[in-house]
Amino acid sequence: MPKVIVVGAGMIGSSVAFRLVQSGVEVVVVDRAEPASGTTGSSFAWVNANEKLPRSYFDLNVAGMREHDRLEGELGGAPWLHRVGNLTWTGDPVRYDELCRRMERLQSWGYNAAWLAAEDVNQRLEPGLTFSGPNMRVAWFPDESWLDGPLFARSMLDRAAYAGGTLRTGQAVTGLNRTGAGYVATLADRTRIEADAVVNAAGPDADQISGMLGRHLPLSPSRGLLVRVAVEGQPLGRIVHGTDINVRPDGAGFLMLHHESADPLLGDRDTIPPDDSRCRDLCKRARRVLPGISAARISEARIGVRPFPRDGVSCLGEVPGIPGFYEAVTHSAVTMGPLVGRLIADEIVLGNVDPMLTEFRPGRF
Ligand SMILES: Cc1cc2nc3c(=O)[nH]c(=O)nc-3n(C[C@H](O)[C@H](O)[C@H](O)COP(=O)(O)OP(=O)(O)OC[C@H]3O[C@@H](n4cnc5c(N)ncnc54)[C@H](O)[C@@H]3O)c2cc1C
Repeated sequence: MPKVIVVGAGMIGSSVAFRLVQSGVEVVVVDRAEPASGTTGSSFAWVNANEKLPRSYFDLNVAGMREHDRLEGELGGAPWLHRVGNLTWTGDPVRYDELCRRMERLQSWGYNAAWLAAEDVNQRLEPGLTFSGPNMRVAWFPDESWLDGPLFARSMLDRAAYAGGTLRTGQAVTGLNRTGAGYVATLADRTRIEADAVVNAAGPDADQISGMLGRHLPLSPSRGLLVRVAVEGQPLGRIVHGTDINVRPDGAGFLMLHHESADPLLGDRDTIPPDDSRCRDLCKRARRVLPGISAARISEARIGVRPFPRDGVSCLGEVPGIPGFYEAVTHSAVTMGPLVGRLIADEIVLGNVDPMLTEFRPGRF
């Protein structure tokens, strides 16, 4: 069995490591910081295939959702996964037309999606949400969930370590070279790790890892603002996407806020103070849809970096011309982490390339 270095301990690296160790592979996971300290710890973390195009990418995300079910069945539980469903509405006429078209498309593709009247939502699901009127149409996606990324990554890595895998944290990979039969990775403390294969799961910094081997992986990372607020009681049970705010629960006593309209205002900053006007604005928008959280306090604000390959979809598999070097880089890795973990491990161990990956291979770059 080969020895494999996995660079990155987020959704992807932890999932790949878990599946590789299960197949008897010797695995060393290296992360420059702590597990899930990258994008996985700064994500809206909505498990869905809702707005995914083209069809092949939608199918990949649906398979990602099913893989969460499969993993839950296999492990006898998935405490990181919150199966609460998602409600979406908009008061903007242009976006409403887009939502109607999306609903038609999703329903024709067999995705679980239904329209509800706002008054039904208030009576049956979320009494605390405010809508512009009782008949407002609200899209309901009962199969969608949110995920605790840090809990997921730590659980996968714990299982990998228990079965013999090694985790090296606090050490960046600073060099990667090919040797006769494999690879040697140099860490910041100058230690060297030899292996037969390398999985690049470094998220938005994956281009730097590939660059160490002379490979150009074109990424177009984009920043997103996440604001965590402390609230009284349980004002919201589900994920919601309203006209100008997205909100989901984030554990007892907390909600997570995000809206893409705030993201372009971030520039290229990596941190933001919780009292920044952009954070306060998101909080104000959340109070408008959930008047019961008028006393909400911002507890934390984070900027996450989406690891988008340049064409916006995933880059998954062995890189042509660099045998034994695998790229596993994608946005939507909260949705697809477990699936990518299994498919990349199958490719390394069995040489199988799942047909689902055909359009998402590194060779297209
Ligand atoms: C605002 C926002 C909202 C999002 N919403 C969703 C959503 O609703 N649903 C969804 O599915 N996805 C969502 N995403 C995307 C999702 O969070 C990411 O796709 C996922 O977290 C990426 O996981 P990863 O393991 O690939 O990368 P990461 O979690 O970033 O892990 C990469 C790891 O590599 C390590 N690393 C990097 N360079 C080195 C090096 N040289 N040496 C050693 N270690 C290194 C880092 O420390 C990091 O821990 C969102 C992202 C953002 C920013």
